[in-house]
Amino acid sequence: MEDRTLICQDCGKEFVFTAGEQEFYKEKGFDNEPKRCKECRDNKKNQRRQFRTDRSYQE
Ligand SMILES: [Zn+2]
Repeated sequence: MEDRTLICQDCGKEFVFTAGEQEFYKEKGFDNEPKRCKECRDNKKNQRRQFRTDRSYQE
């Protein structure tokens, strides 16, 4: 397997879907390729965490 270059659907930048990651996806049975670069995935994660923190603040 070879590294592949994909385009992030969020920021439009190219990112590398490495052979190791492809192997990992196949092992997990994921059919889809990642849609976002690591940066955007991390951003999403942080946003979710932030949201949860905000909510628990209000409760
Ligand atoms: Zn991105």
